[in-house]
Amino acid sequence: MKKIKNISTILIFLTFILSCKENKDKQKTISDLAIENIIKNMSIEQKVGQMTQVNIDVISKGKVYKLDVPHQIDSAKLDIALNKYYVGSILNAAGYPFSREHWKNIITTVQTKAVSEGSKIPVIYGIDAIHGANYTVGSTLFPQQIALAATWNPEIVEEVASITAYDVSASGISWNFSPVLDLARQPLWGRFYETFGEDVYLAKTMGKAFVKGYQGENTKHPQKVAACLKHYLGYSFPLSGKDRTPAWIPYRMLKEYFLPTFKSAIDQGALSIMVNSGEVNGIPVHASHELLTQVLRNELGFKGVVLTDWEDIIKLYKDHHIASNMKEAVLLAINAGIDMSMTPNDYSFNDALIELVKEGKINESRLDESVKRILILKQKLGLFKTPYPDFDAYKEFGSKNHIEKSLQAAREAITLVKNKNILPLSNEAKILVSGPGANSLNYMNGGWTHTWQGDETKYNTPGKGTIQECLKDFSSNITYIEGTSLDSNINTSKALKEAKKNDVIIICLAEDPASEGPADINSLDFPKAQINLVKELHKSGKSLVVITTTARPRIMREIEPMIDAILICYLPGDEGGRAIAETIFGLNNPSGKLPFTYPKYQGLNIAYDHKYTEKTNRFLGQTSSLNNDDAQLKGKIYQWNFGHGLSYSSFTYSNLKLDKKSYAHTDTIKIEVTLSNNSNTYGNEVVQIYCSDLVASITPSVKRLRGFKKVSLNSNEIKTIKISIAVDELAFVGKNNKWIVEPGEFTLTVDHLSVNFSISK
Ligand code: BGC
Repeated sequence: MKKIKNISTILIFLTFILSCKENKDKQKTISDLAIENIIKNMSIEQKVGQMTQVNIDVISKGKVYKLDVPHQIDSAKLDIALNKYYVGSILNAAGYPFSREHWKNIITTVQTKAVSEGSKIPVIYGIDAIHGANYTVGSTLFPQQIALAATWNPEIVEEVASITAYDVSASGISWNFSPVLDLARQPLWGRFYETFGEDVYLAKTMGKAFVKGYQGENTKHPQKVAACLKHYLGYSFPLSGKDRTPAWIPYRMLKEYFLPTFKSAIDQGALSIMVNSGEVNGIPVHASHELLTQVLRNELGFKGVVLTDWEDIIKLYKDHHIASNMKEAVLLAINAGIDMSMTPNDYSFNDALIELVKEGKINESRLDESVKRILILKQKLGLFKTPYPDFDAYKEFGSKNHIEKSLQAAREAITLVKNKNILPLSNEAKILVSGPGANSLNYMNGGWTHTWQGDETKYNTPGKGTIQECLKDFSSNITYIEGTSLDSNINTSKALKEAKKNDVIIICLAEDPASEGPADINSLDFPKAQINLVKELHKSGKSLVVITTTARPRIMREIEPMIDAILICYLPGDEGGRAIAETIFGLNNPSGKLPFTYPKYQGLNIAYDHKYTEKTNRFLGQTSSLNNDDAQLKGKIYQWNFGHGLSYSSFTYSNLKLDKKSYAHTDTIKIEVTLSNNSNTYGNEVVQIYCSDLVASITPSVKRLRGFKKVSLNSNEIKTIKISIAVDELAFVGKNNKWIVEPGEFTLTVDHLSVNFSISK
C-alpha cells in the first residue's frame, strides 16, 4: 500500500507560495497541483476512506446508539477508522452536548492520529448546529430557522450564522450541516421549522445570509465553518407529508420553486451540499444522475462536496429497492455523483467501493474527482495548516454580545397576527398565565436542542427563563397555573376560577419538541386539551391573549374569535421567554411577518402564491348547497396571509411609484413608496413587493414576492422607501423548462397599493 509522506509539509509549503502570489488563477492552479500531488500518492483504500464519513459512535466506547456515558473515544476503534479505513470525516455528538474541553480532547485525539498515521490527512468533523452550536455546553442557542425567516431581516440572520460559526469553531469543528434550504409547503412534515418558510425569494435571501455568516470572506478564518446546504432536492414536499416518503414534483416546479434557494447559496460560495434522503418522481435522489450531476454540477456549476444523508446509500437497497445489495447501491450512488458517504455506522460503503474499483466497475479516476473536492474543502478550511483548534482564541464564546443577538432575533421574529387594542399590557394589569407552553424551555427550542429530539430537560441552558418566569421579571401581578399539559387536562377548572380574579389571561399553546420523522404529525389541530383550555378560560369573560410556540402553524379557526390578541412565536430559542415578555409589556414592538401562509383549515393547504384557479371560494353565492365550512370562509382561504404581521405602531403606505411604465428584459424596476408611522411608537416595518404576471404561457401565480426591505421608523416619521428589482427576477420556468420573462402586463403591489407596468419584447 502506498503511503503518503509528509503531506502536511508539502501543503504548507505550497500554501505559502500560494499566499505570495497575487494572481488568483495562478493560486488556484498551485493549490490544485498540491492536492493532485497528494492524490497521486494515495491508495484506493485511502481514497475511499476520504469519501467516508462515520458517526462518532464508530470511534467511541460502548455500542452504536448506546454509547458509554460519559463519552470516551475508544482508541482501538479510532485506530481501525484511521489506519484501516482511512476515514476522511466524522460527524455528530454522542447524543448530548459536550463541554468545549471534551470537544477539544476529541478533535485533538482524532487529528493527532489522522495527520501522523494512516493517510496523514486531517479529518473534517461535521455537526448539526442548526440553531446555534447545540451540541456544545454554554453555546448560544438561537431561534430556529422558521423564526429567523419571520424576522425578514437578513442582517440579523447573517449575524446569527456568524455567531454559530464562531461557537462551532470554538468546539474545534469546521463543518456545519446547515442551512436547510427546502421550502416549507407541507406543515404536517416534521422538519417545517427547520426551513425558512414557503416562499422562494424569502428563503433564498435568508439562505444567502446564512452562507455569508458561516463562511465569511475567507473560510480559513478560525471563526468560520463550511456551510452544508440541505437537503438537495425536493425533500420538503413529500406527498404524504411524512419525512423521507416519495415526492412527486414536476420538473418545472422543482426548478422554479425548489432549486433557486440552492442555486443562490451556491452562487454565494457554499462549500458543500447534503442530498435528500427521499425519492423524487420515483428516483431516490441519492441515485439521481440527473439531479446530482446534470443539474447540480453541469447547470448550477457546483464545485463543492456532495455528501449523502444518514445511511442513504444503504437505504437504496434496504428501503428504496432500486438495488439488490450494497455493492449495487454504491455503484448507483457513485455514478449519480456522490462524493462522500455518511455511512455512518459501519464500513460497508468502503468494502463495496473498494471492490467495485478493483473489479473495474468504477474507474479510479472517478474516486480522484471526489477526493479532490474533499481535499479542497479541507484546504479551504485551513485544516492542513491548523488541524487543531486554538481553544483559547474564543473569548466571546457564550458572551453577552452573542446572547443579545439571539434575543434580538427572537424579538424580531415574534409576529403579532391579531390585536384588538389589548397589547401591549400595562404591568399594573393582573394577569393569569396558563397553558403548556408557559413554563418550558424545551417547547421554545424544539428539536435539535442539546439532544436530537430536544425533549430532555436535564441539558437545558441554566438560567434561561420560561415565558411565565420572564413575565414575572417585568410584573409582580402574575399568577401561573398550568391548566393543561400538551394533551391532557391538569387543572383547567382551577385556572378558570383564578381567571375571574384577573384582568387578562395569557394562554401559551405549544407543541412537542421533535426532529425528523418523529416530528411528523397527522393533524394540524391543537390537541383537544389545549383548545378546551382556551374555550374554558374564555368563559371568564376576561381578555385573552394567546402565545404560540410551535414548529408549524396549528389550526386556530375555532378559538381565534375568542381571543383578543395572538402572538405567533415559532420556536424562539433560549431567549424566547424574555423576548415574549418584553413584547407583552411593550418594551419590544413586534415586527415579525409570517414566513408561511397560516392555514384556516387543515384541508386547505394552499400557498400564498397559488394559481388563479385555486380560489376555494369561487362558488360562493352561486349555489345554495354551501356547507358550513364554505360559509365560514367568507372569501378567506387562509387564517392569516403569508407576510402578515401587525405592530404597535400604525403604518400607512402612499405614493407608490415606478420609474417607468414599460421595461426591457435587461432593466431594473425602481420602486418608491412612502411609509408613514402614524403613531407615537418607534417601530419596524417590512415593505413587501409583490408582482403579478397577468397573462403568461404557463399559468401564473396570483402574486409572487419579488423584494422586501425591513425599515425602522421613529414616532410619526415619514420615509420614502426605495427598492429595486431586476426584471430577471420576474422570470418563470416556461414550456421548454427554461427560465423566461415573457413580455406583457404586470401588476406590482405594496400593501394595499398597486401599479401596473409592462415588459416589452
Ligand atoms: C438528517 C440531516 C442531518 C444528519 C446528520 C440526518 O438524519 O436528515 O439533516 O444533518 O442526519 O445528523
